[in-house]
Amino acid sequence: MRGSFLPFSPPAIGPEEIAEVVDTLKSDWITTGPKTRQFEYDFAQFIGAPAALAVSSATDAMQVGLAALGVGPGDEVITTAMTFCSTVHVIEHLGARPVLVDVEPDTLCIDPSAVERAVTPRTRGVLPVHIYGHPCELDPLLDLAAARGLFVLEDAAHSLPARYKGRLVGTIGTATAFSFYATKNMTTAEGGMLTGDGDLIAKARIWSLHGMSRDAYNRYSAEGSWFYEVVLPGFKCNMTDIHASLGLQQLKKLPRFQDRRREVVRRYQSAFADFPELQIPTERPDVESAWHIYPLRLVLETLRIGRNQFIEEMKARNIGTSVHFIPVHLHPYYRKKYGYSTADFPVAAANYERLVSLPLHPRLSDVDVDDVIEAVRDVVDKFRR
Ligand SMILES: *Cc1c(COP(=O)(O)O)cnc(C)c1O
Repeated sequence: MRGSFLPFSPPAIGPEEIAEVVDTLKSDWITTGPKTRQFEYDFAQFIGAPAALAVSSATDAMQVGLAALGVGPGDEVITTAMTFCSTVHVIEHLGARPVLVDVEPDTLCIDPSAVERAVTPRTRGVLPVHIYGHPCELDPLLDLAAARGLFVLEDAAHSLPARYKGRLVGTIGTATAFSFYATKNMTTAEGGMLTGDGDLIAKARIWSLHGMSRDAYNRYSAEGSWFYEVVLPGFKCNMTDIHASLGLQQLKKLPRFQDRRREVVRRYQSAFADFPELQIPTERPDVESAWHIYPLRLVLETLRIGRNQFIEEMKARNIGTSVHFIPVHLHPYYRKKYGYSTADFPVAAANYERLVSLPLHPRLSDVDVDDVIEAVRDVVDKFRR
């Protein structure tokens, strides 16, 4: 057994990131300024998006995206039950109604036919989540959106970079939100990016900084002017140049990070494929997953333990794991407010009981991967029915 604990998802920060942060700290500009602008530019170039706005989280990217799209009280936005809570919170925060739907059994991405059934005259848009890094089935959502005049704002917190039918996620829907949280495929400690067309991003930018018509860099720098007007009751979620410094260097490393993630996934897939006790994640033929998460599913009928004890057994073998996610309709706030029961989204609820995410990050060594594989095999062998 492994001697030291293997953490689930530590950040991969090197001397390049440290030097860039120090450079920023020694400069005269530490909050939103030249490095944030450069990071937005580099990110938009990387994705091939017309424009990008850097903010303090993916949650904020979705928030200002929805605000810029005009979502407000009386509106409905359709999203998935199988996601992190903030995907749904942002709809609540604008006074609109989140309408949850179930997911597809193979990918656990939002089910397009369920979305279609959930549309009402109050529906303004769809907020799909490319969960685990695997792109949702976007074409039916885009067709529905075009037919009904809806937006498609994607939660791509897991899917940098991912492709759907050859196109990079971030260039497909109305707008796309990415996360640079500490555990994500690249990090700025906390941070997010919204991509979309120039007009939408310009509106979202105003929403991200108090609703002011000019940001501080445009007021306090040599070329700036003191005058501004408040045109909206905006939020305050601009990215700082300190965070952008991390992003500038992490973005350069992202292709290498992804190569390592895919290599680890290949080894997990071949190690677990033959176990009837385990269901390995799929990658549909017309997509490229960003492989943010490796979601293993236990075939519970074949084991004498449930998922929770599986996690304890992995911990006892010094392997950190996690669960993605507790479906939103099972959380007390949403259960109480909208009267949801477990059975409302049976695919999400049933899979939640079987999900366990294994360590997947670029710092995993071959020995680490062997240790994870050995621990999983050992637990399955011990508790097989
Ligand atoms: C991490 C995550 C978010 C939130 O990202 P932040 O940058 O922390 O706001 C949203 N949705 C999903 C699916 C996530 O995993």
